[in-house]
Amino acid sequence: MFFLCVILSIILIVLWFVLYHMRSRSAIFLNKDEACEYFVAHHSLYINSLSKEERRIKGIDINGSCYDIGRKIISEFSIAEKKMIRNRLPPDQFDIPWFFIKVSINYENGYPHTINGAIVLSEGDVSSTVLRHERVHVLQKQYSEWFDSYYSNLYGVDRLSNIKIPSELKMRVRSNPDTPDLNYGLRVRSVSSTISHIIPLCLYEKDLIGVKSMSETIIVGYCIPTNQVYPIDAFKLWHDNGGPKEMKKAEHIHEWVAYNWEDGFPNLIYKKWKNYYKNNKV
Ligand SMILES: [Zn+2]
Repeated sequence: MFFLCVILSIILIVLWFVLYHMRSRSAIFLNKDEACEYFVAHHSLYINSLSKEERRIKGIDINGSCYDIGRKIISEFSIAEKKMIRNRLPPDQFDIPWFFIKVSINYENGYPHTINGAIVLSEGDVSSTVLRHERVHVLQKQYSEWFDSYYSNLYGVDRLSNIKIPSELKMRVRSNPDTPDLNYGLRVRSVSSTISHIIPLCLYEKDLIGVKSMSETIIVGYCIPTNQVYPIDAFKLWHDNGGPKEMKKAEHIHEWVAYNWEDGFPNLIYKKWKNYYKNNKV
C-alpha cells in the first residue's frame, strides 16, 4: 500500500510538472495575415502618431496606410525560430498565452517590443531574459491599474493627469510602443522644493531631420510644475529621489520595472500580483 502511494504521488508530481510547463510554453506565432490584422487593430494609433521623419528613423520606408506598412514589415517565423523561442520561454504562472509577431530587422531598429498582448521580434537570437522583459510590458498593458498603484507605492512614481508637455519637447520624444503614456513622474519628497514631480523624456538629440538612428537620444527630466528641463544623468534631484542611474531604466517607469523583473518576478510581489490577477483576469 505504501509503495502504491509513493508511485501515485510521483505520477501526480510528474503530471503537474508536465502540465505546468505545457501551459507556460503555449506560444502562438501569428502568420502574416493574422499579424497584419492584429497590427492594424492594435497599432494604428501608434503608427499614425509618428511624424514623417520619425517613420524614416524607425525604418518605415513606405508612404501608406497602417495595413500597407504591416504588409511590408511583417513576415513569418521559420520552424527553427519557433523552436528556439519555445525553448527559451521562461516558465511563469500567468495563464496568458505567448503571442508572437515577426517583423523585418530594419523596423524599430530590430528592437523587441510589444503590441497589445503580442511580442514583436525580428530575426536573430532571443534570450529568456528578453522574453521575460517583453512579458512584463504585456502585463503592464493589460493590468495598468495594478501597475499604477505598484509604481506609486514602491517606486514613488505617480501617473499624473492634466499634464501638457510643451510641443517643442513632445515633437522630439522618441516614441516607444511599450511606453505609450508619458505622464509618469518621479515624486520629489523634499517639501522645500518647488518641483513636485520629474517626468523623464527620451528625446532625439537634435532636430529629427538630422537624426539617422533610433539610438541618437538623450534622456531629460521635465519638471512639474516648473517646466524646467535637465539632462537626467546629471540631475541631482532625480538621483536624490531614487531615480535610476542606468539610462535604459530611466527612460520610463515601464522600462525601469521591466528591466528589474527580467531575471525573474520578485517573489513577494508575485504573490500579491497573483491574488489580484485571479480576481481581475482579462
Ligand atoms: Zn522594454
